[in-house]
Amino acid sequence: MHCLRTGPLAAVLAIAVIASPARADYIDHFATRTDVGVHKVPSRGTTRVLVIPVFVDDQPYSSGDEASFLAEVEDFFAVDDRSVFDGGFRFTSYWEQASLGRFRPEATVAAPVHFPSCPPLGGNEDCAIPRGAGVADGDIAGAAQTLKDAMLFLNETLLCATAGPSAERRCTSGGGVDLAAFDTSGNQQGVADGFVDGVIVVSNAQFPGIALPVKDLSSQPLLSFLGPLPSFVYPSPGTDGITVPSIGIAGFARAPARETFVAVHEFGHLLGFCDLYNEAGTTTDLPWTVMGGWFYSTPASLLDPFSRVAIGWANVIDVNGPGRFTIPSAARSGVVVKVGQGDEFFMVEHRQRTDDAIDGDLDVDSGVFIERVRLQKRPASAPGNYIATLQNCVNCVAFDSMLMVEEADGAYDLQRGRPRNDAADLFQTGQAIGPSTNVAARSLQNPVFSTNLLSGAATDLRITVVESTADGAVIEVEAPLLADPCFDLESLCLQDCAVDDEGHGRCGGFETFPVPGAAVDEGAGDGGCACGTTAARSPLPAFLLALWLARRRRHG
Ligand SMILES: [Zn+2]
Repeated sequence: MHCLRTGPLAAVLAIAVIASPARADYIDHFATRTDVGVHKVPSRGTTRVLVIPVFVDDQPYSSGDEASFLAEVEDFFAVDDRSVFDGGFRFTSYWEQASLGRFRPEATVAAPVHFPSCPPLGGNEDCAIPRGAGVADGDIAGAAQTLKDAMLFLNETLLCATAGPSAERRCTSGGGVDLAAFDTSGNQQGVADGFVDGVIVVSNAQFPGIALPVKDLSSQPLLSFLGPLPSFVYPSPGTDGITVPSIGIAGFARAPARETFVAVHEFGHLLGFCDLYNEAGTTTDLPWTVMGGWFYSTPASLLDPFSRVAIGWANVIDVNGPGRFTIPSAARSGVVVKVGQGDEFFMVEHRQRTDDAIDGDLDVDSGVFIERVRLQKRPASAPGNYIATLQNCVNCVAFDSMLMVEEADGAYDLQRGRPRNDAADLFQTGQAIGPSTNVAARSLQNPVFSTNLLSGAATDLRITVVESTADGAVIEVEAPLLADPCFDLESLCLQDCAVDDEGHGRCGGFETFPVPGAAVDEGAGDGGCACGTTAARSPLPAFLLALWLARRRRHG
């Protein structure tokens, strides 16, 4: 299961790249931002997300019964005007806060779609798909059939949710959804583009947590041997049809985890984020981010600083020369201080646990998160590269990851797969990280705590936490003077960069969210593989295996 590097993958990618002229890809962690449609759902402005409860009558419910599960789903996805701090951790307010109000996905829970039982998915009953779907056991044909069956079942579910039960469909309830209502935006904010803004399936059946780019898969020439696959285009009056590009799926979750919480992580994939945990366990999952080491039982972590910068939701200061910065807590201010230039640098922010709202899994009240970012490990935006991203996860090699925590105690326990220890790893008052004279490459054998690059090359960077309190921190940074303090931000930021009075580059609005003292509207609306006949050298095993890995981390 863990040895997934395969040569033939290159052939897959070559074919995929040639097949499409556009530079765009699913889960590329925003290497591109302009591919909303088939590869990403919109992440700016107010959008509409369809949540389909899929209830399978012969399957148990984690919450006891159908009524309590539906009540939980309806509450978690309910839309009102309370912030996450006032109304608690819920879907819309979480994303609105994480984006500083730049993105508000308003969910609508559809009429539940009931099925008497799960159809067989490959050879699997109860919608339970084992890891690898049998590929690891050599059952390539079975894995291919599982993928096809899963796509057929998702298509049937969408037909049930839109058109309702019929003689051709096994569902006994559902219907009434017009998908056009869920297409409000595309690459152009507020302009419908023929793709829905997001679809989530929550179910009591044993589905894994998984996000599938169903439209891309259904058009993959590599899967043509499976025979006709659904188009994932659905009729809607006055349109040529509305396409469902991707679906986030959250099946039965054992308490204290919750299906609804899993859905938040899977929606992160629909937006464009890749996984930041390490399924293999060779290093510890990246903590303090909703795409990493969060276990779906507490209010979700905020996204880590680089992820928020990448999607365009942060307020970024690029440090030019020495400076002193007061940084309010990240969840409310979005402030990220960038230290260092080029492909490898640091992002610094203040994190605070707010019970019932955000960062519920922090085991300290607050602290400063220093994240090392290495753009050379960011997924490429070439179409189809997501298969490689799934196989070679970005944060799965010690001292060679896209994102890693600089641990305040310098122990690099997370690189060794040891348990997370927030009290030791978040920086507190008086702690600092600076250059080292050891310029050998960093590794488990040479884990030198420093701001040197992982190659060992020295930098002139030092970050000192002068003071950290519950609500924010003061940091001092030593860094070289830059010729152009906006140079890096022009490509990293969504907003335009400007040079501030101290000479640092800045992008973003630097507003806090929610705006203190802003009136709350009490009249809140709610509308608001070698597969069968294919030879053993086929790239398909890698392809299919990768697919079955695109799922949430399991619980113990
Ligand atoms: Zn995931």
